[in-house]
Amino acid sequence: MNLVVIVGGGHAAAEAAIALRIQGWEGDIKLISDEDVLPYQRPPLSKGYFHKTVTSAQLLIKKQALYEKANVDVMLGLSVVAIDRLSQTVTVSSGAIIGYSHLIIATGAQARILNIPGAELPCVSYLRTLNDANNIIANIKSNSHLLVIGAGYIGLELAASARKIGARVTILESFERVLSRVTNEQMSGFYQGLHKDNGVDLKLNIGIEEIHTTEDGYVATLNDGSNVAFDHTVVGIGVIPNTGLAEAAGLECDNGIVVNEHTLTSDPTIYAIGDVSNHPNEFYARNIRLESVPSAMEQAKVAAANICGKPKIHNSFPWFWSDQYDVKLQTAGLSQGYDETVVRGDMTQKKFALFYLKKGKIIAVDAINSPKDFMKAKALIPQGLTVSKDKLADITKNWFD
Ligand code: FAD
Repeated sequence: MNLVVIVGGGHAAAEAAIALRIQGWEGDIKLISDEDVLPYQRPPLSKGYFHKTVTSAQLLIKKQALYEKANVDVMLGLSVVAIDRLSQTVTVSSGAIIGYSHLIIATGAQARILNIPGAELPCVSYLRTLNDANNIIANIKSNSHLLVIGAGYIGLELAASARKIGARVTILESFERVLSRVTNEQMSGFYQGLHKDNGVDLKLNIGIEEIHTTEDGYVATLNDGSNVAFDHTVVGIGVIPNTGLAEAAGLECDNGIVVNEHTLTSDPTIYAIGDVSNHPNEFYARNIRLESVPSAMEQAKVAAANICGKPKIHNSFPWFWSDQYDVKLQTAGLSQGYDETVVRGDMTQKKFALFYLKKGKIIAVDAINSPKDFMKAKALIPQGLTVSKDKLADITKNWFD
């Protein structure tokens, strides 16, 4: 049998389906997604789609006609509920059993759920899907008070979008600074200032104990005993990779589905790509799981090439972006493990690059409104570049010459 089944309907799945044809796959391709719309881009959900500058048609990763042209059978609104590795079949929620010669698991991740009394109330939402975004848009108006729980990228982007339409915004963060998982104190301080300057009430080092209804709306009780009245809340406390199917099928999982440099799981007919994969990264000499569109797309291309008998290694350098107010962050690399930082540019002018170094070598950069520094860093860091701290900080000269 020559049939690739792709489980999932996000960036990784859509890219893999088309990449298979580009790489010359002549057999059948089935993409099975439990969402009822064609695969769409998630990043605009907290930004352009919220502001209606991006329409739902523009969100689509590939147009319907492209799947038709590539002869990809897109099965929407159906979940894959089981994988039988022995018979090489998947069971779909409709009851159908479909055989495969190769299986690609691209099941992504789901929002981590808040576990406190009142978390089941209708004022509590999450932002992962188009339906989530539509629900949030319907509930946040210019006169609303939005409570954002968690100061990661999604929470901060949504806070910025809500402020842009004039809504009142309070952010609760249990750690002592925002973005603590991904940036250093300086960068957290920059974002804290940015949100405060834009009128956000930012509460750090605080937990939420319960949510209850009142005559006027909702109230959150915090762990310092205080209360915050609000109209709607969006929880952004991280995601959990959708590994359930893979675990039940006995595939190796550890914070994602463990794959090798070919995106292959512990089963030689099953690949895992995108947010759900825990994959080796040569530059950082460790396994990582990334939540990023570029990584999902790159892994999809690698899986497709390998399935088509064109051995390819996934070794792309991590990068990411985030848009909040008038600030575009572009990040290249992962900063964990740094021992020094250098700021190039003026933080007060919202145009600078923060370089992370380890033993003198640049390992990552957070570039704020500095696309040139980002582009150069993305290209040069993987080469193991060593640049003196003075040269990095000197804005009168290029650091990369
Ligand atoms: P997903 O997009 O999660 O897709 C997985 C799909 O599989 C989903 O459709 C899911 O419903 C489906 N599925 C799961 N289980 C099954 C099953 N058993 N059967 C059938 N279907 C199933 N990344 C960036 O790089 N830059 C950004 O600025 C950025 N902003 C973001 C903003 C928001 C609001 C969100 C939510 C994410 C953002 N991301 C951003 C992250 C990015 O969207 C993800 O990294 C990317 O979507 C991962 O793609 P994926 O295909 O691996 O997983």
